Amino acid sequence: MRVLVTGGAGFIGSHYVRQALTGAYPTLADAEIVILDKLTYAGNRENLAPVADSPRLRFIEGDICDPDIVRESITGADLVVHFAAESHVDRSIAGSTDFVRTNVLGTQTLLQASVDEGVAKFVHVSTDEVYGSIEVGSWPEEHPLEPNSPYSASKASSDLLARSYFRTHELAVCITRCSNNYGPYQFPEKVIPLFTTNLLDGKKIPLYGDGLNVRDWLHVDDHCQGIQLVADAGRAGEIYNIGGGTELNNRELTSLLLDATGTDESFVRPVIDRKAHDRRYSVDITKISTELGYQPRVSFADGLASTVQWYRDNRAWWEPLRERTGHFGR
Ligand code: NAD
Repeated sequence: MRVLVTGGAGFIGSHYVRQALTGAYPTLADAEIVILDKLTYAGNRENLAPVADSPRLRFIEGDICDPDIVRESITGADLVVHFAAESHVDRSIAGSTDFVRTNVLGTQTLLQASVDEGVAKFVHVSTDEVYGSIEVGSWPEEHPLEPNSPYSASKASSDLLARSYFRTHELAVCITRCSNNYGPYQFPEKVIPLFTTNLLDGKKIPLYGDGLNVRDWLHVDDHCQGIQLVADAGRAGEIYNIGGGTELNNRELTSLLLDATGTDESFVRPVIDRKAHDRRYSVDITKISTELGYQPRVSFADGLASTVQWYRDNRAWWEPLRERTGHFGR
């Protein structure tokens, strides 16, 4: 069995690879893992250090928009798990060209190569942000796509392409749409690692707007567990939401991080809200739970405590990356 993992040097992709190579997924126990990653600012070989010596791992540095390198990477793959993307909403507001290129053209390039090479299963990792914003209740998978940022619009576009490759070419595509991930090795421009590393350094944390935007938090390990359930048994052509079950507004999240780092409200610096900032995300996970037996296993209290501890213990990982966040560290 050979698996092509795109974006395997990023936050979620590297977690999936580390888990796959250390026996977390029985169906991948002997699988060879090929990573294709461009190593953008968000990609980091250090994320793979714990498994770097595995004889089952092969790393290819390259762009998913390049048909030649995609072809080389995909040869012999039975399964493609597609994580590679430009993933930060704030960056997409500042400029969206790379988002359209990688997320749309890159996904199409991979889908076409998967058809040409006869790949048996393609898992396209998407986001709940494609649904837009919801005041009350939760989105089922059939909800219309109403993306509000260039990031989520580019992901929605890639979802539609993935669907079309199932309908047109009968490629066995599954789409997953997850909520906000957190955990170790997350690039310190995203809110939990940004706030944690600022607080550990005694710096203020920039809180957008009134701080009442609500997100559902999903530990990266639960997300990857859900992805593997879909890879193993998801029905071709289907979409599966993956959520964590802990909804918090950003003020509540901030309070928990202040407590976890022994700091206080004086560290909070309100900043002007993000443009078109979605108010609330909430996915309905009935489908993946009933069909595939998915349940989040990491409680938010435990997951947040261990994540903050990881950042305490791994300054050598994140301190050099702070240079790369630029003004996206707000
Ligand atoms: P990330 O930004 O940490 O990592 C992205 C990886 O993709 C990096 O290693 C980068 O080098 C690579 N990459 C970017 N452009 C590339 C290209 N053109 N060719 C090859 N590689 C390229 O992202 P992440 O947080 O790990 O997210 C992974 C996936 O999950 C993305 O598709 C994202 O849309 C989705 N997602 C993430 C979250 C979240 O909370 N982080 C939530 C929902 C969905």
